[in-house]
Amino acid sequence: MATPLIIILYINKNLVWTDVASLVTPTHWYPDIRTVMLHEMGHVFGVTHAPSTSSSVMFYSNLKVKRSLTPCDYNTTLNAYNPL
Ligand SMILES: [Zn+2]
Repeated sequence: MATPLIIILYINKNLVWTDVASLVTPTHWYPDIRTVMLHEMGHVFGVTHAPSTSSSVMFYSNLKVKRSLTPCDYNTTLNAYNPL
């Protein structure tokens, strides 16, 4: 039987979060809640940070809005579960 994985995700309530993509800019940085949640869910599924920008989710930048998965994200996640 597999060991259960417990993940605790903290959201910093001291930041000003947004779901308005236009507010994520170098001059007015507000973290995009959708981008951050998608990124963190990648960690929940066992994916680590990607060294390449081809992974939209796991190559993390505070100045990006990434709300969808790329083929690289799908492949990385699948490899995390089935490395064969
Ligand atoms: Zn991360």
